Amino acid sequence: MTSPIRVPIFDGHNDALLRLYRRGGADGPQAFLVGEEKGHLDLPKAIQGGFAGGLFAVFVPSARRSEPPPDEATAANPEPPPASPIDLASAQSVAISMISLLLRIEAESQGRVRICRDVAEIRQCMKDGVLAAVLHMEGAEPIDPKFEFLDVLHAAGLRSLGPVWSRPNFFGHGVPFLCPSSPDTGLGLTDLGKELVRRCNQFRILIDLSHINERGFWDVAAISDVPLVATHSNAHALSPHSRNLTDKQLAAIRETGGLVGANLATAFLRPDGARNADAPVDLVLDHIAYMLEHVGEDGVGLGSDFDGAKMPSGIGTVAGLQNLVDAMRARGFGEPLIEKVCYKNWLRVLEATWRLAT
Ligand code: ZN
Repeated sequence: MTSPIRVPIFDGHNDALLRLYRRGGADGPQAFLVGEEKGHLDLPKAIQGGFAGGLFAVFVPSARRSEPPPDEATAANPEPPPASPIDLASAQSVAISMISLLLRIEAESQGRVRICRDVAEIRQCMKDGVLAAVLHMEGAEPIDPKFEFLDVLHAAGLRSLGPVWSRPNFFGHGVPFLCPSSPDTGLGLTDLGKELVRRCNQFRILIDLSHINERGFWDVAAISDVPLVATHSNAHALSPHSRNLTDKQLAAIRETGGLVGANLATAFLRPDGARNADAPVDLVLDHIAYMLEHVGEDGVGLGSDFDGAKMPSGIGTVAGLQNLVDAMRARGFGEPLIEKVCYKNWLRVLEATWRLAT
């Protein structure tokens, strides 16, 4: 049953560009615009589900042939061995291909998709029914030690960056996929990683903490002058996965006026960390309610992980997002809180982060 009022969703994380990159072929942008059976996120599905926009991730896969999508690694299907550095040239090449995909989607969309560089543009898109895409990078492997590529990325529209994915790189140490496990799994940021945080601050680029280990999280907290944000993570107290956030981390995010995007990946929802579509939508609500309690009602949004992980069967694809809105109503959330979680909190934190953007 559809809900009486559709609420637009602005979402903190998707891997649609990775899906299109892996799909190959020159018609990737059209596949996104026309829609196809495969995948969680394309334009027709977005319109159907009220997906107004979000952060589109550029992610450089590790050098392994059949690796799982970014947030689908499990104990039985582990992430690539941590000591597999990705060389700069090949990382940049993949990043350029994926950014090109988003640029071509925009160019071929006849005004239906726009890459947004500030919040005014996102608001305009939402008003006009245009899909608002923000360019995000998950893992800084394509960035060189002199940060020259960061200049290029910012000019191309990059407004959000996770220094690490769940593997080590020159900048720090990502948290491996473990459950049960604390996110405190090893060393923090390197000196180069600390410099990356300062450079991102200068550009007012959002720093995404979702895949960083706990020491790296505290290193960023000590250096950064923008709100702390984890674009797609859940509550460790409910699902003791290394990818989820402890109460202490949630409190730090709250202190900076930051945000957590609730992740729909079943492995980060379920108490057993299993990648199983049999995860009730109510479980998402449990995490949202818990994080609202700990971060505050201005500090929780959505960070779906569409095209990057297994979704609960009650949502499936972006087309099913209003089922989540229905579940919020069933949980007793009032409309103002629903709007905050669905898009207003994201716009608030992006505005606070990008406010001095040049
Ligand atoms: Zn991720």
